[in-house]
Amino acid sequence: MSGESKSKKSVAEQRSEKSLFDRIWTLAYHRGFVFPSAEIYGGIAGIYDLGPLGAKMKNNLIQAWREFFVLKEVNPPVYELDGSTILPYEALKASGHLDSFTDPTVNCLKCKKVMRADHLIEDSLGLYVEGMTPEQLTRIIRENRLVCPECKGDLSDVSVFNLMLGVKVGPAGGQTAFLRPETAQDIFMDFKRVQQSMRAKLPFGIAQIGKSYRNEISPRQGLIRIREFTQMEIEMFIHPKEIGNHPSFYMVKDTKIRILTREQQKRGEKEPLEMTASEFLERNILPNPYMAYYLAKETIFYQSLGIPYEKFHFRHMMPEETPFYSGGNFDLEVELSIGRKEIVGNAYRTNYDLSNHMKKSGKDLSISIDGEKIIPEVVEPSFGVERAIYCILEHCFREDDGRGWTWFQFPPKIAPVKALVLPLVRKEPLTDIAFKTYETLKKNGLEVEYDDRGSVGKRYARGDEIGIPYCVTIDYDTVKANTVTIRDRDSRKQTVVKRDDLVEILFKLICGNIEFNTLL
Ligand code: AMP
Repeated sequence: MSGESKSKKSVAEQRSEKSLFDRIWTLAYHRGFVFPSAEIYGGIAGIYDLGPLGAKMKNNLIQAWREFFVLKEVNPPVYELDGSTILPYEALKASGHLDSFTDPTVNCLKCKKVMRADHLIEDSLGLYVEGMTPEQLTRIIRENRLVCPECKGDLSDVSVFNLMLGVKVGPAGGQTAFLRPETAQDIFMDFKRVQQSMRAKLPFGIAQIGKSYRNEISPRQGLIRIREFTQMEIEMFIHPKEIGNHPSFYMVKDTKIRILTREQQKRGEKEPLEMTASEFLERNILPNPYMAYYLAKETIFYQSLGIPYEKFHFRHMMPEETPFYSGGNFDLEVELSIGRKEIVGNAYRTNYDLSNHMKKSGKDLSISIDGEKIIPEVVEPSFGVERAIYCILEHCFREDDGRGWTWFQFPPKIAPVKALVLPLVRKEPLTDIAFKTYETLKKNGLEVEYDDRGSVGKRYARGDEIGIPYCVTIDYDTVKANTVTIRDRDSRKQTVVKRDDLVEILFKLICGNIEFNTLL
């Protein structure tokens, strides 16, 4: 046997060598979920474009979120804002971002690499250093003789680096401004205008979906730490005397949620507590029913996107990880092959932001209720879109289960394409009928694709590989009896239905109103 064939590795061997993260990331590139931005010019680290499938998935995620957290919310109502991504210096000085939105950095004196000092210490010593000052971090680096992981060069002292990206607005230098590091500040600054224009009464929420920018020191792990990303945030404004009463909490009070408490973290435990939202409230682990409401809703929401219940939990952030004004922060962390990652930050921000903007701008943002000036308290859930997309890709990824290819088991509502329409063979009249069927489905608002290239098996494979839940095949029975065959991605079972019923059946399947099995 030649040396060449001996060194050849089986697909299984190659797979086990490549981490799950690398495999998903490679699939995401090749199948059109994500591309490096400005790739033909070398791009910028940590900045990505979403390809056709990624863009559809993002739209589906946003639509699902908007429905669940904004449009269907009755009491309290939630209004949506579309604010500017460029904010003036004064606004971000007032919000505290200019002075304290920083990360600690350390430079290699030999190769000049710049690194996050806290990440370097955590990665090389396994020490938890959140909240430590630059001086404390420098001391740890010196005492442990840490060097550059790339070239073993000596390291500088630790300094702080502001994560905001600056812009100059107007000609000749103009006004100093920044790309917003979170969507929340527009909401606080517009709070009074929204309240007055909508004649809103407390409690009410203001939501915003849009881009945020952070000049991350070391963007890494694909979509997990990037420099331009999309946030979906809600600021819920509450009368301080009513913080203990959420008018709709009863609807989610029995929802089971998982929280890793502060006590558990102190004891080094990793397995979160599981209780209902109201039990966590009764035990004072959650600060108020508004926070409990969001944790319960997030638990329902992420499961509906294909992230299993036992793969995520909320972590009560330790005091040193939260700002001084916080009344409690709970991060939703998802277990991934690259470790636990935060995809939602939930914060009880008290009235800090509104009070602060009032002080610094000199404008009154309080509401007058029965002659009393009220500054509302705020509970904020802050969701990241791109991180969620990666979590969905990893948790919906399925190995070859005998079908001959890997596939994605996306829930239909998040799947970028809902159905693939294919003629059995590329011949008239099958192609004509198939194309007309495709057109009808599209005109009814379904995300569908048409494919007449290659064998049916290859086309099924392509559909499974990008997570299309249903394939619709047009065959000679369609010509004779006007029926079509629907193939279910998950079970690979097939059923024949009337072509005239197809739109209705697909809608019902996608919305979860019927199960595929009931059609067999
Ligand atoms: P934070 O304000 O840091 O709590 O961020 C709120 C949410 O925004 C996080 O839970 C993430 O989902 C998302 N996010 C924050 N920073 C990044 C980043 N650099 N890349 C991608 N998503 C991010």
